[in-house]
Amino acid sequence: MSPGSPPSSATSLMPTAEDAVPTDVLSHTISQCRICRDRPAGGPENRMPHEPRPVAYLSSTARVLIAGQAPGLRVHETGIPFNDASGDRLRLWLGVDRDTFYDRSLFAIAPMGFCFPGYNAEGHDLPPRRECAPQWRATVMRSMPQIELILAIGQYAQAWHLGARRARTMTETVERWRETMLSNAPGPRVLPLPHPSWRNTGWLKRHPWFEAEVLPVLRQTVSLLIGRNDFS
Ligand code: SF4
Repeated sequence: MSPGSPPSSATSLMPTAEDAVPTDVLSHTISQCRICRDRPAGGPENRMPHEPRPVAYLSSTARVLIAGQAPGLRVHETGIPFNDASGDRLRLWLGVDRDTFYDRSLFAIAPMGFCFPGYNAEGHDLPPRRECAPQWRATVMRSMPQIELILAIGQYAQAWHLGARRARTMTETVERWRETMLSNAPGPRVLPLPHPSWRNTGWLKRHPWFEAEVLPVLRQTVSLLIGRNDFS
């Protein structure tokens, strides 16, 4: 796999209760991970330029998994996932407030890279660390066999959770959301979403069907799965 490319498909990694590590144990183990500091892929020159701080909310009861890309600097500094403008937009999309969003009994939050990867030369966030998904993703999914819906945010989560069902581009993948949601593929349903970053405001304007068609279904499905009765 070349640096920066999405991790290869893991659709064979069906979540089961067999050999599942309890989420509290796994959360603690992940919090201790320093692979990108101590054994970076490709050699020492690829070492993470700061101390890793894994940020993931695993849950033994949540039915919805938010599978994002990687924490940004603010999330790295606070240790709270989606504690930024992207999170505000995501909560708007989901139709939930902060207290509900951070209720670990309702939502699990596990990005494709658990640590802030740093910036590239242009000052943009680097892609999720390529060490992370091969090391942790299968174990994380097996630890949460109760997940019914995966919100696959961005190309990296879509590559992992959709595998061969992913289209050529992120936009095409999101455009096929109905087909993906209604697929009979084994495992949790997957809803592909663009990243809620404010950098994607232009994308949202160019693809108005996303807010008009996808968001109402997203809100209703999430509302049902977190046990709310108001389908507003
Ligand atoms: S990004 Fe993942 S693999 Fe790298 S140090 Fe953080 S938790 Fe470990």
